[in-house]
Amino acid sequence: MLFRDLVSVYERLDATSSRLEMTDILASFFRTAETSALRKAIYLTQGQLYPDFYQQKLGMADKLLIRTLSFVTGTREEKISEVQLKEGDLGSVAEKLYQGKRQTTLFSEPLTLDRVYSALERASSSEGGGSQDSKMKMLAEVLHDATPVEAKYISRIVTGKMRLGVAAMTMIDALSVAFATKEERDAVERAFNITSDMGLVGEVLSRSGLEGVKSIHVQVGNPIRVMLAERMSSPAEILEKMGGNCAFEYKYDGVRVQAHIKDGVVTLYSRRLEDLTSQFPDVVKALKESFTVGSAIVEGECVPVDLNTGEFLPFQEVSHRRGRKHGLEEAMEEYPVRICLFDLLYLDGQDMTEVTYLKRRAALTEAFRITDAAKLSEMRMLQSEEEVQKFFLEALRDGCEGLMAKSIGPDSFYRAGNRGFLWIKYKKEYRSEMNDTVDLVVVGAFAGRGKRKGVYGALLMATYNEQEDRFETVSKLGSGFDDAALAEIPKRLEQYRVQDKHHLVSSNMQADFWFEPGLVLEVRGAEITVSPIHTAAYGKVRKDGGLAIRFPRWTGKIRDDKGPREATRSDELLSMYRSQLKQIE
Ligand code: ATP
Repeated sequence: MLFRDLVSVYERLDATSSRLEMTDILASFFRTAETSALRKAIYLTQGQLYPDFYQQKLGMADKLLIRTLSFVTGTREEKISEVQLKEGDLGSVAEKLYQGKRQTTLFSEPLTLDRVYSALERASSSEGGGSQDSKMKMLAEVLHDATPVEAKYISRIVTGKMRLGVAAMTMIDALSVAFATKEERDAVERAFNITSDMGLVGEVLSRSGLEGVKSIHVQVGNPIRVMLAERMSSPAEILEKMGGNCAFEYKYDGVRVQAHIKDGVVTLYSRRLEDLTSQFPDVVKALKESFTVGSAIVEGECVPVDLNTGEFLPFQEVSHRRGRKHGLEEAMEEYPVRICLFDLLYLDGQDMTEVTYLKRRAALTEAFRITDAAKLSEMRMLQSEEEVQKFFLEALRDGCEGLMAKSIGPDSFYRAGNRGFLWIKYKKEYRSEMNDTVDLVVVGAFAGRGKRKGVYGALLMATYNEQEDRFETVSKLGSGFDDAALAEIPKRLEQYRVQDKHHLVSSNMQADFWFEPGLVLEVRGAEITVSPIHTAAYGKVRKDGGLAIRFPRWTGKIRDDKGPREATRSDELLSMYRSQLKQIE
């Protein structure tokens, strides 16, 4: 295929914003294109060389392209940059430069798609010392033979700014129109959703039609586009929608990961199909230990855990610490990332996306060994609103966002790339941002684990309820202590040690050590949430819950200037909570 034939399609696509027109333009092109060229043409139309999930990206810096254009056209770099400032788009700049030079250009071979593609491919893969020069050379070689309009699109492609506005759904429409019927579009879309590879789908359609596409299956190495949930705001609504009975899972607040496992090799993809493998060595290790034979594709949510409080941490918290004090190894040891598995999409040759929810869950339970680092999501089958509310509060207590309801009906398949009511999220916001620090009283402590063996792992912190003259718990504090503080704090607490819970303390938690309220620490939290376990302002927001401070971190300051009754009051915390409550929905 000549590159100019493809470029004339781009010119027409560029001139319209109508999805229908785009579909027509693409469909007629697909019909006439040679099968062998289709795959490359599709990727380039998407402004890529490969499917979305390939790590290798084009994205050449503007500067390098300017250098190349300067070399090819003989125009000074400064001049090109100047025009770029006015024009914005380097593609149009290139086109203009070429038009100006046209008279002097010698006749050259027309560019073929293969030649352009392979030059771009080589340029994108060249790495290391001198790679800038060799990238430039490879690019210059094709740009030299390009027409003005070809130069425009090559420039856009290499800088990652193709922007023809062809959405995946338009591409699927066009492929269906070209090679199948309207009714068969679903099969085409499914093939894309389970492979995330439009080029592959296009090529198979062109070569073997719909039958070919139907024989495309889920396979390890091709990330599956994720299934998404609808949202509802009450358990009653959800239960009604689900026919009175469904599964509820904890909705973890982390990073969704799709793990592809084969022969002991684990690759992790994000929900946007980026390769996350190198970011989560601990999750890779956990999955290897948990799944020992065969091949599988699983999904789960990755959440860092504070070993000492046993609570989940927000990701920002961990990465910020990694950058500052700890190396990756240390951070991994101190804040290991746990994966909570919630779905199984493929197992040893079987496409599990076409199997109902409970069967997938059973197979997942069977295939994966539960460890500390790889767990199954908490799940319960529930039929009544009360049970759902109770489970919801438990989820909040355990640091989750709420619940995911999942259909157990005969059609409860894994609908790749779709959002629907087979999954419903319930995360009524009982959370409020915290902008200010609070001063909390130490009323208890928990024995340390891991690196904190032998010292306190976490402290039980309380606010002061003035009306009742009681100290009410709000959180377990385990962050913000360096080694010096870890040694110092126990000494400071010694004078307050009591055998049992102090009579002024209201706590539903069983601490390992108890203190008379005395020591006041300044604490910064991320948010205030409703909690069934903590006792601060109990019953004020919900009849069966108090307030908790999530992700608390000691600022390093001991408030020696404050007595325990001058600490932050429970009603103050309540008004902080109310004034910054996130809007529901
Ligand atoms: P969405 O993913 O629905 O577009 P979003 O990115 O704002 O929206 P949420 O509304 O928080 O995400 O909810 C969906 C996400 O919840 C999932 O993509 C997944 O990452 C996460 N999640 C946590 N626990 C579960 C679970 N048990 N089952 C499914 N998803 C879960």
